[in-house]
Amino acid sequence: MTDMIDPFGRHVTYLRVSVTDRCDYRCVYCMSENMTFLPKKDLLSLEELDRLCTTFIHKGVKKIRLTGGEPLVRRGIMNLIGDLSRHLDSGHLEELTLTTNGSQLEHHAKELASCGVKRINVSLDTLEPEAFRKLTRRGDLAKVLDGVEAASAAGIHIKINMVALRGFNEHCINDMISWCGERGYDMTMIETMPMGEMDFHRGDQYMPLSEIRESIDRDWTLSDIPLRTGGPARYCEIAETGGRIGFITPLTHNFCESCNRVRLTCTGTLYMCLGQDDATDLRAPLRASEGNEMLETAIDEAITRKPKGHDFIIDRENGGPGVMRHMSVTGG
Ligand code: SAM
Ligand code: SF4
Repeated sequence: MTDMIDPFGRHVTYLRVSVTDRCDYRCVYCMSENMTFLPKKDLLSLEELDRLCTTFIHKGVKKIRLTGGEPLVRRGIMNLIGDLSRHLDSGHLEELTLTTNGSQLEHHAKELASCGVKRINVSLDTLEPEAFRKLTRRGDLAKVLDGVEAASAAGIHIKINMVALRGFNEHCINDMISWCGERGYDMTMIETMPMGEMDFHRGDQYMPLSEIRESIDRDWTLSDIPLRTGGPARYCEIAETGGRIGFITPLTHNFCESCNRVRLTCTGTLYMCLGQDDATDLRAPLRASEGNEMLETAIDEAITRKPKGHDFIIDRENGGPGVMRHMSVTGG
């Protein structure tokens, strides 16, 4: 079986799988209040997701991240994680991880650890309960904090993802840095991306990370470190806490040249780039036969179309979506 190498010579070794587009939260920058979710009948079964992931592993994928929507609200998700962990045992897969809002983490932490999940990303944009409820339109911060603590106690390394949102959380960044530093969690700051139709102008929330970095630099001593975790974040060490902070800057800095990933939706659509509309349906070839030949041919053809990069813009003229689908469809 051939590895996946795109026309720009980039090896595709990282698969992100959105296992559901549903979520128990409605974060203001991610979803609208009244979302229409995909009909359940269109979803791939857990067995089909396993077969797809396994095919990608045979084609050179070394890292799989489950995301969504909220991956831990998909019924039976722990069975999928348990089944996929066989590829960790065999050494074909190097990392199985997930990005979660943490709401269900407390119940699953121990089992995740026993399935070989060594680190997870938890999205947490503020440590203020009221602001958290407003931002997620319903979330209970205490539950998330219990979940994070349980995962950490189970030996899972935590990275907190914080989306910078003007008017919401720019004043919370110092608290988050201290909180993560005290607990040994890594932290990543993310620029908001123009994905999906919203009932407001994206420019109202968008903060360039250059501005955030300037404000962090006033209170903390950061030094660049060469750490690369296979993703687009650039990392710094914080002298005062000994912790690490990463910056993901899809809008102010283009990181596409080293992109090693593709994204699969819960209906089997493969997106070769988060910020482009081009996609390939893998559900039809998956279901067309019990063998994987058609599926592999479809994947190979898709990889030849992986674009050079995305072209997100948010400014005074461009406040609408760069792509029409919400982040919860392709996963963050
Ligand atoms: N529900 C899980 C969570 O929140 O971690 C996983 C899915 S969520 C779509 C993945 C990540 O995407 C989260 O860290 C979230 O903050 C981020 N995200 C969602 N919409 C975004 C947007 N428009 N711009 C930037 N990041 C976004
Ligand atoms: Fe749900 Fe995650 Fe989107 Fe928030 S960011 S609405 S938790 S999918």
